[in-house]
This record gives sequence, structure tokens and C-alpha cells, in this order.
Amino acid sequence: MDFDNENRIVSPDFNEADSETELSLRPKTLNEYIGQEKAKENLKVYIEAAKARGEQLDHVLLYGPPGLGKTTLAGIIANEMQVQIRVTSGPAIEKPGDLAALLTNLSDGDVLFIDEIHRLSRSVEEVLYPAMEDNALDIIIGKGPSARSIRLDLPKFTLVGATTRAGQLTAPLRDRFGVIARLEMYTPEELAQIVRRSAGILGIAIDDDGAMEIASRSRGTPRIANRLLKRARDFAEVMGNGVITADTAKIALGRMEIDELGLDNIDRLLLTSMIRNYNGGPVGLETIAATIGEEAVTIEDVYEPYLMQIGFLSKTPRGRVVTPLAYRHLGFAMSGQQQLDL
Ligand code: ADP
Repeated sequence: MDFDNENRIVSPDFNEADSETELSLRPKTLNEYIGQEKAKENLKVYIEAAKARGEQLDHVLLYGPPGLGKTTLAGIIANEMQVQIRVTSGPAIEKPGDLAALLTNLSDGDVLFIDEIHRLSRSVEEVLYPAMEDNALDIIIGKGPSARSIRLDLPKFTLVGATTRAGQLTAPLRDRFGVIARLEMYTPEELAQIVRRSAGILGIAIDDDGAMEIASRSRGTPRIANRLLKRARDFAEVMGNGVITADTAKIALGRMEIDELGLDNIDRLLLTSMIRNYNGGPVGLETIAATIGEEAVTIEDVYEPYLMQIGFLSKTPRGRVVTPLAYRHLGFAMSGQQQLDL
């Protein structure tokens, strides 16, 4: 089986359909940015302090599952610091020279945002170390015994790195970030606030119950909440008077086969195949991947964080295990032995 994760409606990854509204929906200031109170409070202090000293902000590492607002926060940091932002990603920087070109083109104080920073190659990372630490670029001139290294000064900049996997960052890179913020999944109340804000910007009519219904099925992720909002609008326009209420939201989400916890067909397939084929686990990640025909990294980055967050899946040293909560939700009975094992 092959799933098209790009177009999966509850995929937290960015897709084509998101792009038209992306710019208008992105909060531009910390005050507009809903939730993530801990990260926000800290950043507010660091930004104020850096501005008061007239210095650039220390390098910031943002980590957490996709769609939680890392790119948005990087833009806000630049905006609050009143500087420009350059956006790139780990896989886009292929050679050390690519990074050198980016760095030398920055202006003093600029933010360089590198998404998926865990995917930088080793040789590119090595260019980053002196740049982050001493605002310098070391260039080797010549080859063999006559080769020598010269140091170029770079503009003072703030690196904002984003990653879904902080664990995959090398220690020397991680240590060079002065600020490390972990983004958490949003509560349904926070997501309802985001849904109402987005509806206001896009001119979509929605009542509070409708917003809550969408929020509670959005897997803790603003990107998904915004996407479900746009789909629900279509249903409300065709089936009702255009206003998204709890009822229209329920019908719309039902048609999209997203259940009341935000699980879609692929989540259900993942869990049921673990239950049917492996007695609910423990099963290794690679085995699950092969069984449902999905890549292991996708399962780890995209599906698992939410399933673990809602307590449907747990990680043990021997593999992944489906929990009794998930059995109940999916309507499976557990064997007596399984209940004893737990
Ligand atoms: P990431 O970089 O972590 O994948 P993004 O920053 O691209 O996520 O956020 C995805 C979408 O969710 C953005 O278009 C933005 O509109 C919305 N969003 C994210 N965080 C918030 C927030 N705290 N408040 C309001 N909207 C948000």
C-alpha cells in the first residue's frame, strides 16, 4: 500500500493547498501568536534584552513536530527585532560554498532561518561553527602543503534553526545555540482560538461550538486546524447557510473520515494492523513501516507524536505497543493475557 502523505488531510506537513492562505494566516507578532506560553515568555525577555543592548539575538533552536509554528516563530523573531529574515533548509544547502554565499549576503542583525537543520551535511555544519561563534568564515586557499586558511568577518546574525528531531542534531551544533525552545502540541482551547482568528482573516462564518469541534480534531496542530477550517467552510456553504456550526463541522469531518479524536484512515490502519498482526505489540518501527507501506521516518515524525500524545501508543525498549485506550477507541477487545501483560 502506498499512501500519499502530501495530500493527507491531517498531515501536519505543508502542502500546495496551504500556500494560498499561508501568508495571511501567519501571525506577525508575539502577541498574535497563540499558545506556546513558555517559549513565548522566554523569547520576549531575550528579544527585549537584545534590543535594549543594541545587539543581535542569540542563536535560537526551535524543535517539535511539524505544523506547530516553528517557521512562524522565526518570522516573528525577525519582525520583533526589526530585521530581515532569510529562509532556507538543511537539504537545500548542499555544499559549504552554498552556506558561505548565504552568510556573506546577510546584513548586520539579520535572521537566518534554517528549517530541518538536522539534515545539514557534516561539511556544511563545519562552516557554521565559526560563523555562529565568532561571526567568521574560514576559507582554505590552495592545496597540499602550501594550503592556508584565511578568516573573513561576517555580519553579526542570528541563526534560527528548526528541527523535528532535536536528538539527531550533533552535540557541537546543539551547544552553539543560546536559546533552545521546545514547541508543544496545542490544547483544543488554543486551537479553537486559532481557528476563530483564521476564520476572521479569511471571512469565514463560524460559531464557538463549530470552532471547538474543528479544534478538538486537529491533532494539536495549527496547520491542520487551518486546513480543516477551509474544508469545513466548503461543506457549510453547500449544505447549510454558510455558517460553520458544531453540526456542519461534524458532518464535514465525518465525510473526510476524520474521527472525533482527529484520527484518519492511516492512523486507524497503523493501530489496527499492529493489533491484528502483532497482538498490539511490542513491534519494531521498521516492521510497522513495512506492514503499512509507509516510511519509518514518516511514521516517527508524523503519525507517532500525536498517537503518543493522546496515549494510544507507547514506546518501550522492545518496540511500540498499542494501549488499552486505543483498543477501546477502535472497538477491539483485549485478551486476558494482554491485560495481565499491561
Ligand atoms: P512549522 O514550521 O512548525 O512546520 P508553521 O510555522 O509553518 O509550522 O505553522 C503552520 C501554520 O500554522 C502557519 O500557517 C500558521 O498560520 C499557523 N500557526 C502556527 N502556530 C500558530 C500560532 N501559535 N498561532 C496562530 N497560528 C499559528
